[in-house]
Amino acid sequence: MNNTQEFKLCGVAIPRDADQMLSEICEHFVEHADVRRTEYGAVLTSKLGCADIRIDDQRLSIELTCPSQQALQMSRTSIAEHLFYFAGDDALELSWSQSGALAQLPNIHEVTVVSTEDVTPHMRRVKFACADVSPFIGGDMHFRLLAPPKGRNPVWPGLREDGRVAWPQGEDALLVRVYTIREVDIKRRELWIDFLQHPAPGVETPGADFARDARPGDKVALLGPGGGALPEASELLMVGDESALPAIARIVAEMPASTRIRAIIEISDKAEEQPLPSPASLDVRWLHRRDYLSDGRNILREEAEAAIGSMTDDTFVWVACEKEDIRAIKARLKALQHDKKKMYVAWYWAAGSDTSR
Ligand SMILES: Cc1cc2nc3c(=O)[nH]c(=O)nc-3n(C[C@H](O)[C@H](O)[C@H](O)COP(=O)(O)OP(=O)(O)OC[C@H]3O[C@@H](n4cnc5c(N)ncnc54)[C@H](O)[C@@H]3O)c2cc1C
Repeated sequence: MNNTQEFKLCGVAIPRDADQMLSEICEHFVEHADVRRTEYGAVLTSKLGCADIRIDDQRLSIELTCPSQQALQMSRTSIAEHLFYFAGDDALELSWSQSGALAQLPNIHEVTVVSTEDVTPHMRRVKFACADVSPFIGGDMHFRLLAPPKGRNPVWPGLREDGRVAWPQGEDALLVRVYTIREVDIKRRELWIDFLQHPAPGVETPGADFARDARPGDKVALLGPGGGALPEASELLMVGDESALPAIARIVAEMPASTRIRAIIEISDKAEEQPLPSPASLDVRWLHRRDYLSDGRNILREEAEAAIGSMTDDTFVWVACEKEDIRAIKARLKALQHDKKKMYVAWYWAAGSDTSR
């Protein structure tokens, strides 16, 4: 007998152009879910559950089926946020068979700073006490850091009627930045997060500054985890800069011994290199940006493109760095028709702009 419980929810979205909206959704989710186009629309299946989306008289009829109430809420929020993101300035109506309104998000974890240390001159580690670390073990490793304004009691976000996140406004507005759980210390119930102290002359760097100024007892919240599961691969090519180093370090530490990993990591200089213990067979090439800064060459991109050119069809390609480099690397992978299921290619920051999301 199958005892698996199912939680269901239906929604209707009325975008300006339903076909275009569905295409954008499918194009985006192909890296996060199994996306199958059907005669009437598309079916998206991920570990959160299944979204059956049908085009019906210029509307999108959405049926969500998930294994838990929390997964159902997270699926609804993900779909709602993406629909509004793709609608941009165009009008979009979205309603659900049950109200989405919630006082507090289901996947929010309030954590407290325990200690800080400099792992290297520019990588600051903050250790947080977390009452329940179990959601952060294995699986997804990224999250949104939510930090309240200095000196104010935190007000954490809830959910709006349409399933989108209801962010606190005005004096309660939160700092929001995406980071990686570098390590879970199960015994001490701690989460370790490595924050790059990146130079940005003349502009504020609130995420980096949070880590620089963090003191034991400070309270923040982690929203997630979501995204960045361990790649399923026996051969892995990893490319990234310092912002990706925490994720690279965690992945190489957790991949099985049978995996062969080649990693190309750009850092400012030798002092930023870190030991990368791994049970897998690991070949690391560190690129020191300081050595070629004056040449105007983009060595990380060149090295990434060369490595991609020499890999096999079975190689899983994992790349995370600056937005323009990611665009170029994605184009190269597309030209090679590399299987989208065998890649994680994500920009972690954008030159010249802040990356609150
Ligand atoms: C999935 C994911 C996981 C991430 N994990 C980590 C992590 O574990 N540790 C980590 O340190 N970062 C990580 N990042 C990157 C981090 O979110 C960004 O670097 C973010 O911009 C930092 O916020 P900030 O407030 O310090 O700077 P912002 O306010 O966002 O930007 C201020 C200025 O700094 C510049 N800038 C931002 N990031 C960098 C950078 N890395 N190098 C050079 N200049 C930069 C911007 O161009 C801008 O001019 C991750 C990003 C993603 C999407």
